[in-house]
Amino acid sequence: MSIKLPPGTAAHSEDNSDPQNHHLVTLVALSVGLIIAAWLAISFLFNQVINWIPPSVERQLGAIATASFEQQAEPSDTQTTLNQLLDRLEGQLPAEQRRDRNYQLLYIPDETVNALALPGDHIVLYQGLLAQADSENEIMMVLGHELGHFAHRDHLRGLGRGLLVQVLASWLFGNAGSIGAAGLETFAQSQFSQQQEIQADEFGLTLLYQIYGHAAGATAFFTRLSDGTGANFDFLTTHPAPRKRVRRLEQLIKDRGYVTEPLTPLPASLQVE
Ligand SMILES: [Zn+2]
Repeated sequence: MSIKLPPGTAAHSEDNSDPQNHHLVTLVALSVGLIIAAWLAISFLFNQVINWIPPSVERQLGAIATASFEQQAEPSDTQTTLNQLLDRLEGQLPAEQRRDRNYQLLYIPDETVNALALPGDHIVLYQGLLAQADSENEIMMVLGHELGHFAHRDHLRGLGRGLLVQVLASWLFGNAGSIGAAGLETFAQSQFSQQQEIQADEFGLTLLYQIYGHAAGATAFFTRLSDGTGANFDFLTTHPAPRKRVRRLEQLIKDRGYVTEPLTPLPASLQVE
C-alpha cells in the first residue's frame, strides 16, 4: 500500500540537507575565526614580549652596526655639546625609560643630511643635518624624536617574526652570536612606518615642551627639509611623510595648548657650514 505523503514532505526532505550545509558553513566560519583569533593573539604576544626584552640584549645586537659608525665619528666640541643636549633630554624621560639605558651621540662630519637611532642606545647625527638647523630647539626636536624610537622599541618591532624568535632565543639562552649577520643588517637599518614616525614625533614634542616650556622649533626643521630641493636629504628616506607629520604636529600643538616663544640660538660649537 502506497503511503500518501502529506503535502510539504518533499520540501521537508530537501530541508534535511540544509542542516548539514549549515553545519559545514558554521565549521568553516569557526575555523576562520579561530585562525584569525590565534593570529591576533600571537601578534599581541609578540608586541608584549618586545617590551620585556632588556636594553642590554638590544645593545648586544646593535654592537656590530654601532662599531662601523663609531669609526666614522670624531670626538669634537660639536659631539660633546650634542651629547650635553641629549643628556638634558634624557633627564626628562620617565624613570622606567632611563633604566638600563645610556644614550650616546655619535657625530659624523659628513654632508649627509640625516640622523639615525641605532639599536643599542646610539644616535647618529651627521654634519649635513646640523648645517640645516637654525636653532637649538630644532636639534632637540630631532633628538627627542630619535629617543621616541628607543622608547617605543621600534627597532625590535621592525624585525621579522623569524628574526624576533632568534632574538628571544638568544636572550633566553645567552647566545646572540648565533643570529645571522644578514638579520642584524636589517635590524640596524630599520625603516619605520608612518605610524611609528608620528608616535616618535609626539614623543619628541612632549620632551621639547618639557625642556623649553613652549613648542617653538617643533616643525621648522621638518618643514625646511620637505621644502628643500637638490640636496641629498637621506633624512626624508628614513623619516617619511614630513608634510603629513608637520600637519599632525601643528594639530597636536593646538590641541595641547602649547605656546611658542623665541627660539634658543645654536651654541657656537653647533654652528657648522
Ligand atoms: Zn624617525
